[in-house]
Amino acid sequence: MLKGTKLYSIFGNKCPRCHEGDFFEKSNPYTKDFDKMNHYCNSCGENFERETGFYYGAMYVSYAFTVALGVAWFLFLYILFGFDALTFLISYSVLLIVLLPWIFRTSRLIWINFFTKYKKEAAGTEPRKVA
Ligand SMILES: [Zn+2]
Repeated sequence: MLKGTKLYSIFGNKCPRCHEGDFFEKSNPYTKDFDKMNHYCNSCGENFERETGFYYGAMYVSYAFTVALGVAWFLFLYILFGFDALTFLISYSVLLIVLLPWIFRTSRLIWINFFTKYKKEAAGTEPRKVA
């Protein structure tokens, strides 16, 4: 993925400001502490925990994700196998449980990328002053 694009930060678990430091502590979403975030970027000092409740907004991103996934999954099953509500509900539930860590993390990265611009020169600079 091309560095400097928001997709690089979102799918690469990178700081939205410098694209160098890691956003979550672990790169693999399928580990025990998949939800643990770094408080600050270890490269540019960007504050990842801006204010209390900042990541409530990521719930809307997550909601959009799951609805889009549900529609896509429904169409996939409908086209291949015809409509069967029980098959859809069971398979969609399993799919959501399996993808939960990935959706959680991706939603938070998308949310913080809404509010942060990439600055190439930010990497390795003094940490931003935080009030
Ligand atoms: Zn950074």
